[in-house]
Order: sequence, then structure tokens, then C-alpha cells
Amino acid sequence: RQNERESLLIVLNFAKTFFQETLLTTDEGKSIGLSYFRERGFTNPTIEAFELGYTLDQWDALLQEGLRRGYNRDLLEKAGLILIKEAEAGGKQKVFDRFRGRVMFPIHNVSGRVIAFGARILKLDKNQPKYLNSPETSVYHKSQVLYGIFQAKQAIRQEDVCYLTEGYTDVISLHQAGIKNVVASSGTSLTTEQIRLIARFTPNVTILYDGDAAGIKAALRGLDMVLEEGLNLRLLLLPNGEDPDSYVHKVGADAFKEYIRKNSQDFIDFKASQWLNEAGDNPLKRAEGISDVCASITRIPDLLKRQTLSQRVAQVFHVSEQSVISEINRLLRKQQ
Ligand code: ATP
Ligand code: MN
Ligand code: MN
Ligand code: MN
Repeated sequence: RQNERESLLIVLNFAKTFFQETLLTTDEGKSIGLSYFRERGFTNPTIEAFELGYTLDQWDALLQEGLRRGYNRDLLEKAGLILIKEAEAGGKQKVFDRFRGRVMFPIHNVSGRVIAFGARILKLDKNQPKYLNSPETSVYHKSQVLYGIFQAKQAIRQEDVCYLTEGYTDVISLHQAGIKNVVASSGTSLTTEQIRLIARFTPNVTILYDGDAAGIKAALRGLDMVLEEGLNLRLLLLPNGEDPDSYVHKVGADAFKEYIRKNSQDFIDFKASQWLNEAGDNPLKRAEGISDVCASITRIPDLLKRQTLSQRVAQVFHVSEQSVISEINRLLRKQQ
């Protein structure tokens, strides 16, 4: 098993290098892939740091080069790099590259080895997914991985906070702007394993999700999970229609940092502002909001933290601390 794992990592590394060479040395790679990265504002050091690449718009460029180098079909398939379509009656079996005509984002594990790829089409097309990802393999378990963790881990320790974003380009653009303590859950809903990975480097997480309905929903979903792992959480919504990538390009690194400093909220303020927005002076809605914030507090393992936060909830919603504590206790009893 150890051998199979190592073989997969070797063939994935070969593919990564092949995609980098395709980007930097072929005519198609330069005129399409590299121009695309340029349009997005990525510099050469950034392209190098994230080992970005390009796949030719051909059926089997990687397969052919892989076979020529002595990697067999079985291994290429197990690594998620090629697809084998069994023959239909009378037809021939078809073997071809999974990723074609896309810019390539290698996904690294904590120690920097490539375990999978994300691949973006260049022009949006409703018949094709914008991003295509490697399938689950014996070295890639999507739920356990955070994009950018290898490039970010040192900065996360140093800054003692991890910024959590949605996408590949959010990580890359912030990194290029000098904000390097940033990772992405890559569009999946956050998992406990991903949170524990962050916790190896810092107890502090700030969620920076896209400023749209999906981003808010994802932030609310991730919130309780982060609290359950005992981490300290802040949240920030980007202005509507922006994501960290677009916003940092728009306003620059300093203004972006200032925006985080001024607008990030702890989870109580974040939830309260969502609820108070909606509730206005409707007392039933307000009560629902208080109960919802209390439910998040019950997720926190540390009793002392729960008590301090109860005081905050009381202040924010202008109710007595005793009523907050009773609500928390009621919810805790219900959970048992
Ligand atoms: P871009 O700026 O290149 O358009 P993005 O990162 O802003 O990309 P979003 O639509 O905000 O893209 O999605 C966030 C993340 O979700 C992506 O970076 C990617 O990891 C994942 N994702 C998005 N669309 C898909 C898809 N169709 N299939 C799989 N994953 C996807
Ligand atoms: Mn989005
Ligand atoms: Mn984007
Ligand atoms: Mn986005």
C-alpha cells in the first residue's frame, strides 16, 4: 500500500510538471493558458509558487507522454488523470485525458506533494462545469484537504490566524498581495477534518466567503463546526458580488487588510446582524434569533467561554443574561 501511494504521488508529480511545461513552453499554453493567468493578474512568481499549469485541448497529450515515460495506464487511471470508457457493442474502448483545454491548479498536501488537481475552463460554458476536480483516489480525500495549506502554513503560524476562503483564486490572489495565511475549502462545505487541519497551526479562524447568498449560507453552515472544534471564529462578508480575489484586485492589499480589520465580526455579531436585519422590531423573530445564537453557543466545548459569551448575547439583543442562560440550558438538555 505504501508502494502504491508513493507510485501515485510520483505520477501526479510527473503530471504537474508536464502541465507546467505545457503552460510555459508550448504555443497553445502560452497564448491561451498564460494569457489567461495574466488577465487575472497572476505574476510569474505566483504561477511558480502554486505550480500552475495548462492542459492542451487534445484527447490524450498526457496519456501519450505518460506511457512514453513508462507510467502505465492503470496507474494513470488510479491517479485520476485519465478516463477509460469501456467499449460499447462493436466499438472500441476509449482512453483519454480527464483534463483537456483547462488551466490547472495542483492541490498539495501539507508537505507539499501534489495529490490532485482542480482545473478551470477558460471561457464559461453552460454545458461544462467551470471547475473540474480530480476524483477521490487513494491519496486524495477531498474532505480532508484544504487548498493552499502548504503555501500558507508558515504564515498561519506566524500571523496566528487562518483566513478561510471559498476558491482557488481567492487563495492565490491574496497570497500574491502578501496575505499568505489563507486557504480554501474549494467549494465543498467545510468538514471537521479540514478544521482540525487548521487547528494544527492556529486556534483562530476568519471565514472570508463570497458576498452572495451562497456565501452567507456556507458561512452559517461552517460556523457551528468551527465552534465545535473549540476554535475562535470571526467572519467577514465581502461586498455583494465580490470575492476575496476580485476585491483584493479592486482595492489593493492595504485596503483589503483594513476592510478585514474593520468589518470582521465574531459569530455572535455576525448572526445577530443577519437576524436583526430580518427581524426589525418583530419580537417573535428576535426571539428566534436569540435562540439561534444560543444554539451555536451550545456547540462550544469550553464552559467558561460559553458563560462569557452569554453576557455578550444578552447585551447584543438587549435581554437579561439570565434569560440567555436559561435558553442555553434548555437547548443543552434537549440535545442530551
Ligand atoms: P473564478 O474566480 O475562477 O471564477 P471562484 O473561485 O470565484 O472562481 P466560485 O464560483 O466562487 O469560483 O466557486 C468557489 C470554488 O468552488 C471554486 O474555486 C472551486 O473550488 C469550486 N467550484 C466552483 N464551481 C465548481 C464546479 N462546477 N465543480 C466543482 N467545483 C467547483
Ligand atoms: Mn461563489
Ligand atoms: Mn472568483
Ligand atoms: Mn468566488
